[in-house]
Amino acid sequence: MISRLLPTHKFIPHAVVKTVQAIDFDALKKAGIQGVVFDVDNTLIPYDDRAVKPWHEQLFKTLNDLGMVTMMLTNNHHRDVKTFAEGCGVPVIMAANKPLKRGYKKALKALGLPAFKTMMVGDQFMTDLYGASKVGMPTILVNPIKRKSEKWYTKILRKLESDMKQKVIAKHPELRVPLEEIHRG
Ligand SMILES: [Mg+2]
Repeated sequence: MISRLLPTHKFIPHAVVKTVQAIDFDALKKAGIQGVVFDVDNTLIPYDDRAVKPWHEQLFKTLNDLGMVTMMLTNNHHRDVKTFAEGCGVPVIMAANKPLKRGYKKALKALGLPAFKTMMVGDQFMTDLYGASKVGMPTILVNPIKRKSEKWYTKILRKLESDMKQKVIAKHPELRVPLEEIHRG
């Protein structure tokens, strides 16, 4: 049932939204999603400001109030990411090697949820979304918070990704539809 509402295709996100704050988690909950796994860099925080902001606190409070479990999954291995996650009160898997399946499987096991009930939220097709799709998790693509401070290899991936994103959106115009409408079917 849920898999029909949230069909999984490689590379194709179930929704494209500007920011994490724009995601309608209430609608996701109603569609059967019980957990959310977040990428960290440029999804929750930019590279040049690693502080926990009021909107982060609000976000995890909202998810908690909805009874949804959360996790962060990052390829980053620096201490500041761990500090950020701890500040949010959310468990984190570091050096996850996305898009390899292992990190996602570890996250699902820790959350105690099947893949189809767990949403991956990230800003990169090639890492966040592709890996999630491989294990059967539905995905939401957000715009990167800030590009300027990205590393050179991320910038190269971005170029490939923006081309792919344009193609996917052109081919799947329904992705422009607000989340709640997508989940209403
Ligand atoms: Mg990212």
